[in-house]
Amino acid sequence: MADGRLLILDDDVMTGQTMQSIAEFAGLEVRSTTLPDTFFTEVAQWQPDVIALDLVMPGMDGVEVMNALAARGCQARIIITSGVGTRVLEAAARSAGEHGLDIVGILAKPFLPAALRELLTQALRTDRGAGRPRGRPAPNATRGDLTAADLDLAMERDELFVMYQPKLHCQSGALAGFEVLARWQHPEQGLIPPDRFIPLAERSGRMDALTRIVFAKALDWFAALRNDAGAANVPVLSPQTVANLTVSVNVSAMSLASVELFDWLESRCAECGVTPDRLILELTETSAMDDPVASLDIMTRLRMKGFQLSIDDFGTGYSSMLQLVRLPFSEIKVDKSFVLTATQSGESRSVVRSVVDLGRSLGLKSTAEGVEDAETMSFLRQIGCDLVQGYHIARPMAGSDVVPWARNHDATRESLRLEALRALNVLDTPEESRFDRLTRLAQRLFRTPIALVSLVDADRQWFKSHAGLAVRETPRDTSFCAFAIEDEDEDVTVVPDARLDARFQNNPLVTEAPGIRFYAGCPLRTAGGSAVGTLCVIDTVPRTFSKEERALLIDLAALVEKELNDHHKAITDPLTGVLNRHGFEGRAADAVRLAERLGQPATLLFIDLNDLKAINDRFGHAEGDRALSAFSDMLQGTFRESDLIARIGGDEFVALMIDAAEDEAMRVRLRLDQALAAYNAQDSVSYRLGAAVGIATLQPGQQKDLQALLAEADALMYRDKPD
Ligand code: C2E
Ligand code: CA
Ligand code: CA
Repeated sequence: MADGRLLILDDDVMTGQTMQSIAEFAGLEVRSTTLPDTFFTEVAQWQPDVIALDLVMPGMDGVEVMNALAARGCQARIIITSGVGTRVLEAAARSAGEHGLDIVGILAKPFLPAALRELLTQALRTDRGAGRPRGRPAPNATRGDLTAADLDLAMERDELFVMYQPKLHCQSGALAGFEVLARWQHPEQGLIPPDRFIPLAERSGRMDALTRIVFAKALDWFAALRNDAGAANVPVLSPQTVANLTVSVNVSAMSLASVELFDWLESRCAECGVTPDRLILELTETSAMDDPVASLDIMTRLRMKGFQLSIDDFGTGYSSMLQLVRLPFSEIKVDKSFVLTATQSGESRSVVRSVVDLGRSLGLKSTAEGVEDAETMSFLRQIGCDLVQGYHIARPMAGSDVVPWARNHDATRESLRLEALRALNVLDTPEESRFDRLTRLAQRLFRTPIALVSLVDADRQWFKSHAGLAVRETPRDTSFCAFAIEDEDEDVTVVPDARLDARFQNNPLVTEAPGIRFYAGCPLRTAGGSAVGTLCVIDTVPRTFSKEERALLIDLAALVEKELNDHHKAITDPLTGVLNRHGFEGRAADAVRLAERLGQPATLLFIDLNDLKAINDRFGHAEGDRALSAFSDMLQGTFRESDLIARIGGDEFVALMIDAAEDEAMRVRLRLDQALAAYNAQDSVSYRLGAAVGIATLQPGQQKDLQALLAEADALMYRDKPD
């Protein structure tokens, strides 16, 4: 295609970028903007040959822009783009023509790259921008004198090799896998980057041969890694780490149709003992979209063989969501041009965020590549990107460097994790009701005999709360929880029957007491992303765990995480040891929400200790304090451990019960009266303690907030006061 200048006005950054890369690829010089002001400046000063104009932009009238262009005597040829119906666009084009503008054609969105290329060719065919010499060489011309024969020789002499670039799980920083990148060690020219020989291989029909070499090398390396992981006394990665690793290989668009290549790959995988689901085939966005119908066929077949498919360089080609939904991808890779500029550019951040969101809504893993600094990394963590790759983590490395690198990476990560755990200041502290409450709740909601808050320390797991289990710690190497915090593929690790699970069937916790059969554990993370332990439920009989139960465990774990990050002192009433008002409010809203989700009632009791003032006046404040502590003990003995109990004022207490209706609350009230009577009967007590109680219940589906519930219970409590 002839050289020329293309100016794009489009309010959608992604579309602008897409058109820009297609046009640049075709050899044009391109500028793109979303702003009409910038656009007009560029039209006047840069004098583009072709303009691609989005007619329908928010806050701007496309017809007005055309009129303004006509008024300025714009000589550029114009391509009209838009998402509205072609009939509207045609009408607009006619009107523009009547204004004296030179309309090349209409590009209705969504468009295929080929359609844009075609229009650009047309626009540049007639030599209207004459007199403006542009003698740039096409950017994709191969430099040097590399020829297809060189490439043949290189393959013959085994000069091609591969490098591996790690990919990490974004939240935890755990190793997820590697992308395989081809290199050519040329005897005279030295190291040749793929940008110089991949296009050559593609042009000269050697791409399949090259791809085979890459696959063969990567598979041999990967199979060795997996075998070594099982071997004793070899300094390797743990079998668990290696079992979950993936290897990503770039597959050129033209290889996609090669049935022989993938049949070969499938049998090669079988020979190496690598299941196809460990392999991710990366296809560039543009290649996959060029002929979506044919691609759908081929890709579906590949997915059926078990391979994962990734859409590479996403954001640079053009894909309509519809096409993306239809094609069976398992991963979406945000193009590095957006990731590289994420810290400086708000627009780039928007693109990255929307690609990650898009991936999430389609159930695809999102990967950001080109992560070069910690700031980008934390941005990606914030927006919930799944995987990251880039120089900040590691540059592509030789296969032999991978194990040492990964071991070092693991060691660093573990020491950061332990540091984060220590910083919580909870290890080896006494039991606390704020944690016990949640394990009791888990025990009850899941009907399991055991529920634990387990913290995974350097070489033990230590239980901050241990409902239904007497021991306080067990060794790390046999711990299910230590396993669960490493399990990156699942947000909840579920073992339906440990005796049928090769990973656990010989575990002493399974073969001996407590005889674990069923386990479900959800990692507990610090703000920095380190998994410090789990909330887990355990049974001694096999069980299944439904999707709803998973979601519930995740919710409860979030409440445990909150407790871990909260400071005991700030939320506890120092005199009575129960929650203070602040502590109550922070938790009650979560509890009410949880009850709502479970479709269960929540009941609030407002409890006033009568005559505290009189006791203080007659017997002094020390005696008043004793009365308060005694009363608080009675409350804790009366309510269920899973209930929230708080002292919210001088003589005011509240208790919130999840999945308990008014009758349950009435029973509690009776027990409280009995406890008070027993207290008053003591000889050492020279006054009588009494309580006024108001009970308000929130039925599921009732739109009532916590404040309303409190006010209601408070009012009822006053009626309960002795005159
Ligand atoms: P790609 O698939 O997008 O691969 C990622 C490229 O980004 C790699 O360049 C990698 O080294 C680079 N990269 C990774 N992290 C960063 C970062 O933080 N900053 C920056 N600036 N760059 C980063 P590489 O190895 O030069 O590969 C270039 C392209 O060549 C690849 O882009 C891929 O399209 C192609 N390619 C490489 N190997 C093969 C192959 O075996 N087959 C095919 N068909 N294409 C390949
Ligand atoms: Ca790639
Ligand atoms: Ca890429």
